[in-house]
Amino acid sequence: MIRILRQIFRTGIVTDPAPRCDDPKITTGEITLPDSVLKRFKRSLTVREVDAGSCNGCELEIHAINNPIYNCEQFGIHFTASPRFADILLVTGPVTKNMEIALRRTYDAVPTPKLVIAVGDCGCNGGIFGESYASLGGVDKVIPVDIYIPGCPPTPTDILNGFYKIFL
Ligand code: SF4
Repeated sequence: MIRILRQIFRTGIVTDPAPRCDDPKITTGEITLPDSVLKRFKRSLTVREVDAGSCNGCELEIHAINNPIYNCEQFGIHFTASPRFADILLVTGPVTKNMEIALRRTYDAVPTPKLVIAVGDCGCNGGIFGESYASLGGVDKVIPVDIYIPGCPPTPTDILNGFYKIFL
């Protein structure tokens, strides 16, 4: 234990400092989720993310909304591993044939009322992968979609704005 503490002390902090957030939509509070979330969901907007065949580019941006800069929890948005606790399904990727049944089952497991957000060009319409022997195309080919967030990949701000559309 002492050896580990010494090592930590000697090494110091090696990570880069967090970048400043220059995104005016975040810094000026243009995204006004808190009141909306409070009104409709009592600050309990729980999201289950499903990768239905993504290249993981969209996932990296979705992860970013959890970081200290975008900090989606300040808006009352948090992620869950279980669809049974979820209000919203966030789905990325063109739906591959191998993921079709899993996506349908996950959708069925989310209690109603439920919302589905398709993230990225692939989730919206199949994107660069389109429809093929392995891919069914956009998410709405398999389950109903309420909100589309295009982009390849969409930025964290685009994704947060997509959530905002729920409350308009
Ligand atoms: S939209 Fe772009 S980043 Fe997202 S899964 Fe498709 S190819 Fe990857």
